[in-house]
Amino acid sequence: MPTVNWTKEFKPLIKKYKGKPHPLEYKSPYQLVIMVVLAAQDSDRNINKVSIPLFEAYPTFDKLGKADYDNVLPFLSSVRGGRKKTKWILDIAKTIKTEKNIPQTMAELTELPGIGRKSASVIMRELGAPAEGIIVDLHVVRVAPRIGVASGNDPKKIEKQLMEAIDKNDWGDVGMAISHLGREICRPTDPKHELCVMNEVCAYCNGTTAHLLSTKANRKRLKGTKAQEKSGNVVKKSNLSGQRSLKPTLKKR
Ligand code: SF4
Repeated sequence: MPTVNWTKEFKPLIKKYKGKPHPLEYKSPYQLVIMVVLAAQDSDRNINKVSIPLFEAYPTFDKLGKADYDNVLPFLSSVRGGRKKTKWILDIAKTIKTEKNIPQTMAELTELPGIGRKSASVIMRELGAPAEGIIVDLHVVRVAPRIGVASGNDPKKIEKQLMEAIDKNDWGDVGMAISHLGREICRPTDPKHELCVMNEVCAYCNGTTAHLLSTKANRKRLKGTKAQEKSGNVVKKSNLSGQRSLKPTLKKR
């Protein structure tokens, strides 16, 4: 079975979305950190909206760090998890105090309340810090298994598989590129394969699991599936990573 050079195959996608702004419309490193925390489990659109009055009232870490919980909470009334996020951003503002102190490593960022690996990777990418992981948001969780570079629906496992498959030099860009693809072209229903630069290699589009052999985890998973098939507990290959067998007519990229 051939394996796929994912670093090479993702180059056109990275190129396509290179320089595309992050959907969170932040205007400073301070706003970036706060908006990333607020955006967890919520939509970027909502956070862009609620952040305008919030930053008018509290334009710096310093001002936010000195604010009262009860005064900040009303700004986040429409944000999912607004109460705990209010506490988190106040704690972060008190800890960081000024933009110069924003941590730029995974270990330091994930020490802050409300910042996990994905949020840390977003902050590091936007601030130009070297990547230590790959952004895996809900779009990447859906699209990476479709493409065949990962399997399952656990963000941590998907990030590990992506890090194993893709050269470290591309870690900073590839997650966001897959995320943009998921937002624009590879939608949950009716993905626009004909517009997609991944269509020649994509497992979902081509109805194959050959691509799954490119990572250790997937080799193990495929082995398990073959054993199930032998024992009569058949799992269709096309269902290995939530894919369906599909062979649409494609335009060559
Ligand atoms: S080829 Fe189709 S299924 Fe595959 S990533 Fe592109 S849009 Fe999604």
